[in-house]
Amino acid sequence: MSDLTPTDSAPVQQPRRGLVLDRDGTIIVHVPYLCDPAGVVLLPGVREALLAAKSAGVDLFVHSNQSGVGRGMFDLAAVDACNRRMIELLDLGEQPFVRICVASEAPKDPAVYRKPEPRFAQELLRDFGYAPHNLAYIGDRGSDLETAARAGIGGIGVATGLDDLPAELAELGLDKTFPVFASLSEAVEHFLKTPL
Ligand SMILES: [Mg+2]
Repeated sequence: MSDLTPTDSAPVQQPRRGLVLDRDGTIIVHVPYLCDPAGVVLLPGVREALLAAKSAGVDLFVHSNQSGVGRGMFDLAAVDACNRRMIELLDLGEQPFVRICVASEAPKDPAVYRKPEPRFAQELLRDFGYAPHNLAYIGDRGSDLETAARAGIGGIGVATGLDDLPAELAELGLDKTFPVFASLSEAVEHFLKTPL
């Protein structure tokens, strides 16, 4: 009898990977201060892209700035209702996202989770034990990728929102750091083929 586990019969452990998705302009069409579930519309190809990520064993998260709550324009229940509608339209099961972080503070308030604060990413690194290169943000705004930069993790831009993302990244000095793709499908494909 040997104490050593034979290496040829040990299960191959794939490193755990996670994607943190922005909501507005990344998963759904960006309607400023959206608070009506009837206004939730998926961007093209998003379901297939997230299905591909899930099928590859990637944990999915959502991190969304919702300053409309902090500004008193609507409440967290309205944000939750929109999130539930998004999940219903995605049709990837009841809970396709491991965690959803809604940052409700207004820009003038002390930032807690509001992007580019890296707190949510840091919690994911701590709680799930991801290697930093195995966790990435995908978003349509400079603040999404600035969050990734501040957390020291990966970042991928999608030009599917309202802003000029390449210009925002250039202003932040991050245009050489993070790639920008025309769709979420391409962004997810890029993440999946990046060596572990
Ligand atoms: Mg966005």
